[in-house]
Amino acid sequence: MIDTQVAPPTLVCMKAVSKKIASAIMIIMTLSLMSFPCAPQANAYSTLGCVWDTKNIKYYSPSPLSSSPVWANAAGRWSGLDPKLASSSSYHFYGTNENRGNTVSWSGVTRKKGTTQSVPECSNGKWKKGGMEVVLNWSLMSSLNYTTQQRQGVAAHEIGHALGLAHNTGTTTGEPNALMYPYDARRFDWGIFGPKKDDKNGANALY
Ligand SMILES: [Zn+2]
Repeated sequence: MIDTQVAPPTLVCMKAVSKKIASAIMIIMTLSLMSFPCAPQANAYSTLGCVWDTKNIKYYSPSPLSSSPVWANAAGRWSGLDPKLASSSSYHFYGTNENRGNTVSWSGVTRKKGTTQSVPECSNGKWKKGGMEVVLNWSLMSSLNYTTQQRQGVAAHEIGHALGLAHNTGTTTGEPNALMYPYDARRFDWGIFGPKKDDKNGANALY
């Protein structure tokens, strides 16, 4: 079991957050993988140290799930790159949703499947097939009036983690310039709902 009792998001990666945003009532962090430290002042992609053992990566989000079309759209946003995402019941990672509301600070998370927050298993630098799930906090996003586009953006961010990308804390002056920037509101302000150049570079470098 990997320890997931880690510092809350407010103690992680806050340097890149503007005072304006930081003063907002709530900062939603599209987290993830909180046990992985944020790279200090990164302005290029960072990686989690784990990847799939294939470029042909399968995800699965059954159609009864509210988030199913969101995951499909988000996967499509990663198209045209070296890693190829496709839907299959013989999946590497599973896409789902749950209603955690504001009992957690994340709108999306990438975690070990079947757990509340554990980091996905990684052995010899490879994720365990079927052992990961990406999750949207559906009720929190609803309460914050997230649009479909914004939900898709959160899902695309989590898929970035599933591929093996860590957070990108933005430019040296703190502006988000990548999908892997950790805070939803700032990404939305900058019109980032899918992978940008840096994210694509990272994905291609990993596979
Ligand atoms: Zn994240």
